[in-house]
Amino acid sequence: MSIKLEKVVQTFYENLEKGKITAKRCTKCGAVEFPPVYACNSCGCWDMEWIEISGKAKMHSIVMPAALSSKPEYKALGKYAYGEVEIEEGARLNAVVRGITKKKRKEILEKGLLPVPCHASIYQRDGYKTVVFDLDEE
Ligand SMILES: [Zn+2]
Repeated sequence: MSIKLEKVVQTFYENLEKGKITAKRCTKCGAVEFPPVYACNSCGCWDMEWIEISGKAKMHSIVMPAALSSKPEYKALGKYAYGEVEIEEGARLNAVVRGITKKKRKEILEKGLLPVPCHASIYQRDGYKTVVFDLDEE
């Protein structure tokens, strides 16, 4: 099981190198898992297929990173926050969302704008690519 899970993770990163953000879709119930997992969390089915996601997403909650705990490697991201993100295909995850300042967060919360639209981007880290989200420009 763990070896197969590693294979899933490996394919996910290989797809990122090709510029594709991929998720796994259950062939039985249609649930989409992102980040991809080996078996469907909704029905337990192991028959999952790769799909490319549109990148469209909504941010449901905003948590500012604590100044002391923010890792140096995240400095390159610029202004960002953590939040619960729901991709268009239906999966929810906790992700890094760029373009959020404390002021922006306050504005979003005061105006009751949640969930706010955002989109997935491929981000180059040291030696590998990962997925972050960017707040959509108004
Ligand atoms: Zn399923």
